[in-house]
Amino acid sequence: MNRNTIDVPHSLAGAARSACDAEAFRRMGHQLIDATADYLADITAGKRIPVMPWVEPETMVYEWPPHFPAAPAGDMNRLFEAVLAEATHLHHPHYAGHQVPGPLPAAALCDFVAAITNNAMAVYEMGMSGTAMERSVIRWLADSTGLGPAADGVLTSGGSLGNLTALLAARAVKTPAEGDDRLPSLLVSEQAHYSVRRSVKIMGWGQDGAIAVPCDERFRMRADLLAEAQARAEALGRKVIGIVGSACSTATGSFDPLAAIADYCEANNLWFHVDAAHGGPACLSAKYRHLLNGIERADSVVIDPHKMMLMPALVSAVLFRNGDHSYAAFDERASYLLDRDPREEWYNLGYRTFECTKRMASLKLYACLACYGTAMFAEYITAMFDLGARFAALLREAKDFELAIEPDCNIVCFRYVPDRTCDLDALQAAIRKTLVREGSFYIVQARLPQGLFMRVTLTNPFTEESHLLALMDAIRRTAARLG
Ligand SMILES: *Cc1c(COP(=O)(O)O)cnc(C)c1O
Repeated sequence: MNRNTIDVPHSLAGAARSACDAEAFRRMGHQLIDATADYLADITAGKRIPVMPWVEPETMVYEWPPHFPAAPAGDMNRLFEAVLAEATHLHHPHYAGHQVPGPLPAAALCDFVAAITNNAMAVYEMGMSGTAMERSVIRWLADSTGLGPAADGVLTSGGSLGNLTALLAARAVKTPAEGDDRLPSLLVSEQAHYSVRRSVKIMGWGQDGAIAVPCDERFRMRADLLAEAQARAEALGRKVIGIVGSACSTATGSFDPLAAIADYCEANNLWFHVDAAHGGPACLSAKYRHLLNGIERADSVVIDPHKMMLMPALVSAVLFRNGDHSYAAFDERASYLLDRDPREEWYNLGYRTFECTKRMASLKLYACLACYGTAMFAEYITAMFDLGARFAALLREAKDFELAIEPDCNIVCFRYVPDRTCDLDALQAAIRKTLVREGSFYIVQARLPQGLFMRVTLTNPFTEESHLLALMDAIRRTAARLG
């Protein structure tokens, strides 16, 4: 016994100690790994398992009541079993819903390691290897997008927070000169993600903080209308400080003409932000890289590896071509954490992100790049974009389907048009709802100027052409049944 320790009775936190028992954890963990491996095998095969077991929200709430006993009770693996059974099964070949992939199982293990160490990384001391890995994945993404050796950035919890971070930096760098009290505005495609408009509202710029730039018939920003949009903003008494391009847009997967937007930004001294949350990883694909031409000239870029890099949520990157700008969004001094010139302390990531307690999001991306190699990701992205084109071809060949636009990538919007006399919007919505409620397919929908469309994002390496043909048949049968 060390005489210097004050003897605290174990009972004070005895239950918490028991809950940390290594042997109980070992047993529970082995069981869980076996259960999730079985789950994965069943779901990827997709045989006779619905893609989601739809339950009404009110019913689901009854299954998960707020009844918590005072003393230990029950087996957590039974809860896990229910969660697995009740999940929307993203690894199922019939899952083609939102831009959220069935993640690499090993990346989920990385999240587990991040959680058990809980090295939360606003400051280096609280997450040394995680900080180093973050620097390296940021470096690799910056090189992959062509932003150059001066680029730097940070990982954030989601592309929405990433967009806000980049736009806060734009505001700080492009702030109007002394005496110029005009409110700033951004020129934003009508198809930009809603988080851009939300960021503008958070910054207090109001309705005219985001000036809409019209799109062409394929929902790409019309770069030839930028001058007109800027004039419109100025007529409203605004100072335009930047432009947000999408690569790609969320609804239809349309890539804005980044090089033309970069030209305009350079000529007019504007910040160029590229929201490449979904499409950024296309820079890895020799076949599709061209969609991002011009991204290397952006001042800031957001990329979500939790979309097209098979990572579990959340891991997003905000990149700045001029690495110094990565400090511009947040320059407060929080004296108990951060009291130095931030540039001397690149390793204290709290200088550059809104998050204080910050997840070790770098591990999964670093580990999967290091262990699976980069070619797997390049092949995956090419294959998914190719599958989008193939699905579009199938829809075009079918007489009873209509494509919203020829897709640029793996997001495809289409509708079922058995004849022109029915209410097409109501039909699409009813078909989709039925498919989801039955659990036969998970797809989503998008409202476009022409009407309501069904929408898929093909992110699942287990989805093949045969599944897409089965989807078309399921839609036909459902429509017939609905009358
Ligand atoms: C998904 C998406 C976002 C939002 O990213 P989250 O990670 O979901 O917060 C922003 N922009 C675009 C273009 C997106 O597709």
